[in-house]
Amino acid sequence: MRSDLFTDDFKTSPYWQDRAPDIQLPASELPNEVDVLVVGGGYTGLNAALQTAREGLGTLVLDAERPGWGCSMRNGGQISTSLKPSFARLVSRYGKETATKLCREGQASLDYMHHLSRVEGMDIGLREVGRFHGAHKPHLYERLARECALGHPVWQTDAHMVPRADMASELGTDQYCGGIVYPHHCSIDVSKYHPHLMDKTLQAGALIRGHCPVLTIERQKSGFKVQTGDGEVVAGKVILATNGYSGPLSHWHQRRIIPIGSYVIATEEISKEVVDRLFPTDRILSDTRKLVYYYRLSPDRKRLLFGGRVSLGETDPLNSALKLHRDMVSLFPELATVRISHAWMGFVGYTFDTLAHCGEDKGLYYAMGYCGAGVGMASYLGMRIGQKASGIEKSASAFDRISFPTRPLYSGTPWFLAPSILVYRLRDRFGV
Ligand SMILES: Cc1cc2nc3c(=O)[nH]c(=O)nc-3n(C[C@H](O)[C@H](O)[C@H](O)COP(=O)(O)OP(=O)(O)OC[C@H]3O[C@@H](n4cnc5c(N)ncnc54)[C@H](O)[C@@H]3O)c2cc1C
Repeated sequence: MRSDLFTDDFKTSPYWQDRAPDIQLPASELPNEVDVLVVGGGYTGLNAALQTAREGLGTLVLDAERPGWGCSMRNGGQISTSLKPSFARLVSRYGKETATKLCREGQASLDYMHHLSRVEGMDIGLREVGRFHGAHKPHLYERLARECALGHPVWQTDAHMVPRADMASELGTDQYCGGIVYPHHCSIDVSKYHPHLMDKTLQAGALIRGHCPVLTIERQKSGFKVQTGDGEVVAGKVILATNGYSGPLSHWHQRRIIPIGSYVIATEEISKEVVDRLFPTDRILSDTRKLVYYYRLSPDRKRLLFGGRVSLGETDPLNSALKLHRDMVSLFPELATVRISHAWMGFVGYTFDTLAHCGEDKGLYYAMGYCGAGVGMASYLGMRIGQKASGIEKSASAFDRISFPTRPLYSGTPWFLAPSILVYRLRDRFGV
């Protein structure tokens, strides 16, 4: 390991963790009985609990770790309309009507973040900074330009192209052949969102407990008997909000979620002159690679937070940090001697159709599978599934109406990931 690339106070915990306000959870006995038990205390679980608690349902949120320990305190804080498949692909799978509804909900997930910020008054550092999406090959720039000219059939993207000659106004690298700007994409301050959401959910009357794993969920004649690390709870309804950390608690869900590692480094503080030259805007940044790089400045504009899917099976952030540093330097050679202050990873929940899913099976509710784009979508579908469990949902979400596929022989261990990543790496090299 090259120790000169790490700061003396280097940490393998998320950069956000040091800056997050400390929300104290009230000490309480585990209730014997609740109306709704939510498994998982991330964005999905808390947004669901906010709804059920507000509807007067006795709500208990349990997390196996500290609430927020999962992706919800590890992410890059980039927000888009959160749908991976193109509109054309959605139409070919589901028909135009459903494709349109799915896209409308993609937009609704972005709008929901504005709602949390403006209407709920949550200080989540939401800013409409826009996204620059770089083309790493000339023909991919041409493809982006064609898409930009056509516009999106559902979203008002207001996107515009940035040719290579104008790149300096967006980014100080010559590694992109230009790119596209989506001006409505947003960033949040990840260190603020989860703590404030937890505070709101507590204020609404929900009980939240960390370090209390749910071990089994057993169906009863009515409701569920839930075995936890701290004893048994009888619950009228259960909401599964475990996403990339969905273990054997529900085999049906485990067979549908593919946990994939995503990795981030934070740099030490970089001089203002270099930051302003390399990153003249506050945009969130990504590119056309299949194994995408996603990066941004920290909210105070002092550090670069650089993320990617670097590895075949790496779970050690020390190893992934060096790979990410190398990738960062390939885009910005000037950062070669900038050291790493934090490196961390988390498991995002992918699905076989690269779409999120939510639904219910006789009192067992779920929302998951955000495919690495869950800040907005997990929040939105968490809210929707909470409304459904409360009986106040007006009509089912489009994500609830499509089937949630699995594959033969898949039981939750993605044995096919290593070869897929190798193929993606090759495709990225040739831009196919
Ligand atoms: C490195 C990284 C970068 C990312 N960057 C972005 C980004 O820039 N933009 C974006 O939109 N998305 C991003 N994401 C994805 C996004 O963070 C997630 O989609 C979102 O946070 C999912 O929230 P969640 O509540 O569903 O899951 P999580 O936040 O992962 O929470 C699941 C929780 O379930 C708990 N749990 C699991 N099993 C049990 C059990 N049996 N009992 C009790 N608790 C249990 C876990 O402890 C965990 O806390 C990123 C993810 C990672 C890892």
